[in-house]
Amino acid sequence: MRTFNGIAASPGYAVGPVYPVRRKTIVPVRRSLEVADVGPESERFKVAVGRARAEIEVLIEHLTTELGPDEAGILSSQLLILEDEMVWDATLAAIRHERINAEAAFARTVGELAARFLEIEEETFRERVNDLRDVEQRVLRGFLGQVKDQLSSPDVPSIISAVNLTPSDTAALGRHNVLGFIMDEGGNTSHVAILARSIGVPAIVGLQGVAVARPAGQMVAIDGTDGRCITEPDDETTEQFHLLTRQQIVVNEKLVGLKDLPAITPDGHQVHMMANIELPVEVDEALARGAEGIGLLRTEFLFFQHQTIPTEDDQVQMYSEMVRRMGDRPVIFRTLDVGGDKVSDYLGAKREYNPFLGWRGIRFSLANRQLFKTQIKAICRAATGGNAKIMFPMITGVQELRQAREVVAEGLAELKRDGIEHRDDLEIGIMVETPSAVLAADLLSAECDFLSIGSNDLIQYTLAMDRGNTRVSYLYQPLHPAILRSIRHTVEAGHKAGIWVGLCGEMGSETRLAEVLLGLGLDEISLHGAALPKIKQVIRWTSYTEAKSVVDALIDLPTAEDANRWLANYIAERKRQREAEGE
Ligand code: PEP
Ligand code: MG
Repeated sequence: MRTFNGIAASPGYAVGPVYPVRRKTIVPVRRSLEVADVGPESERFKVAVGRARAEIEVLIEHLTTELGPDEAGILSSQLLILEDEMVWDATLAAIRHERINAEAAFARTVGELAARFLEIEEETFRERVNDLRDVEQRVLRGFLGQVKDQLSSPDVPSIISAVNLTPSDTAALGRHNVLGFIMDEGGNTSHVAILARSIGVPAIVGLQGVAVARPAGQMVAIDGTDGRCITEPDDETTEQFHLLTRQQIVVNEKLVGLKDLPAITPDGHQVHMMANIELPVEVDEALARGAEGIGLLRTEFLFFQHQTIPTEDDQVQMYSEMVRRMGDRPVIFRTLDVGGDKVSDYLGAKREYNPFLGWRGIRFSLANRQLFKTQIKAICRAATGGNAKIMFPMITGVQELRQAREVVAEGLAELKRDGIEHRDDLEIGIMVETPSAVLAADLLSAECDFLSIGSNDLIQYTLAMDRGNTRVSYLYQPLHPAILRSIRHTVEAGHKAGIWVGLCGEMGSETRLAEVLLGLGLDEISLHGAALPKIKQVIRWTSYTEAKSVVDALIDLPTAEDANRWLANYIAERKRQREAEGE
C-alpha cells in the first residue's frame, strides 16, 4: 500500500480496479510535394477535417444523451477549432507555399497554436491545449481513414487512469462503470475535472506519472476531496473508504435538500448565494446546487475559447443563452479581465515585467474602447431575455468608473440609434479588488449600483504577494487584519451609500470562513457551485449576532496566524457544543 498526492479535482471517495486509457499518438512524417500535388493535398486536408467534424458531431450527440447537453458544449469548442480560419489559412498556406504534405502542415499549425497557449500562465489556457491535441489527433486519424474512437466503458466499475483525458475520450467512455478518475496531467479547470464534478465522481489530477504507471486491474482507493491516491489499499483502508463513501452520500443528500432553501440565519439575516462561472457548461451545475444567480461570469474565458475575437452577434448569442437559462435570476457579466496572468499576446496585450500592475482589467478595456463597447452592447442586447448586470474589474478609482460608464452610455446610444432591441436599465457595479478601491469605496459607491469584493486580487495587492508565485503563497492570508478591515470598510461604505456589497473571490468557498464573511455583513457571496451548499448550511446554522462578535474578536488580532488559531479553536468548540446538543 502506497499513498500518492495530486491535485484534488473533484470531491468524493472511491475504491476500485484501475482501467487504463492509453492512446497511440500519431506523429506525421513530413514529405515534400510536387507542384501538381498541391491541389489534391489541400483536398485531402478538407476530407480529413470533414471526417473529424462528423465524428465530433456523433460524439456530441452521444454525450448529450449520456451526460446532458452541457457537457456536449465542451466538444463544441473542438468544432470551433476545426472551423477556425487561422488554422485553415496557415495549413493551406504551408501546403501551397512550402509544399509540405497536409498532415505535417496541419500538425505544425496546431503545434504553433498550442505553443502560444502554453506560453500563457493561466491554467485554463493550458487546458485548452488538451482540446487542440485532441483535434489534431482526430484529424490525423482522419487522414488515415481511422476515425473511430476505440475507447469504451469498462466492463466492471473501475477507476479510469490516464496521462490526460481529452473531452472526447471522456465522451467515448461515457459514465457507465466509471467510479472516478486519476490523471497525471491537468489542473482544477481541466475538462475531466469539470466532467467529474458534474457527474459526481471523484477525480485526482496532476499525479505526475503515478496514474500511467498503474497496471490494469490494480486496486486503488482515491480521495478526490484531498487529492490522495492509495495503491493496493489494505482491508482496513478499503473499509474506511467504503465508510467515507456512505457518509458522503448521506451528507450530499442532506445538502441537496437545502437547494431551494434560502441562506437565512436563525435570527433572520439573509445572504444571497450566487455562483462563479467561466463557461456555459457550468450554468446547470450552478442551478443544481441552488445558486440564486451568477455573481461572477468571467467573460474573458468565453473569449479565450475562440481563436479570434467573437463578434457582437457571437457574444449576444453566448450571453443570451446563459441569461435565458438562468430565468429571472441575475447574471453578473464581468467585462473582460485580460492582462495580469490571463494573457500574453491575446488581443494585442504583450508580456510585461510586472503584469499584475500593468495593462490589466479595466485599463485594457478602456484602451480598447471599440472592443469594450462591443461587449457592453452585446450584454445590453442579451439582457432583454432576463436579468443581466454589468461589473467592471480592477477599478482603482472614480475616474476609471466614470470612463467605463461613458462607454456604456455610448454603446446604449448606438443601440438606440440603430433601433436594436436592448435594455438600458442594467445595474452597473465594480469589483473592489485593489486597496485604492477599498479606500475610495465611499466615493465609488456614490456612482455605482453594487460592489463585489474580489478577494483573490485584494489579498494579492494588499499584502503585496503575487498570487501565482508559490514562494510567497504563504502570504495568502484571508484572515490578515488588513484584509478583514478592508472588507469591513468596503461593506460599511457600500451600505452607507445604500447599495449592496458582495464577495466573489475564493475566500467565499472556504467553509471555515463562512461565519466570518457572514459577520462582516456581506449581502451576497458568489462562489464555485460545488462549495455552495456547504456554505449555505453554515449560514443557516449560525446566528448573525454571533457571527458579528466573531468578526469583532478576529479583527483586532495582530497576525493572521493568531486569527487562524482563534478561529480553529472557536469552530472546534462550536462543533463540540452542537454534538452535545445532538444537532
Ligand atoms: C478576484 O480577484 O477575487 C476575482 C474574483 O477575480 P479573478 O480571480 O478573476 O481575478
Ligand atoms: Mg480579480
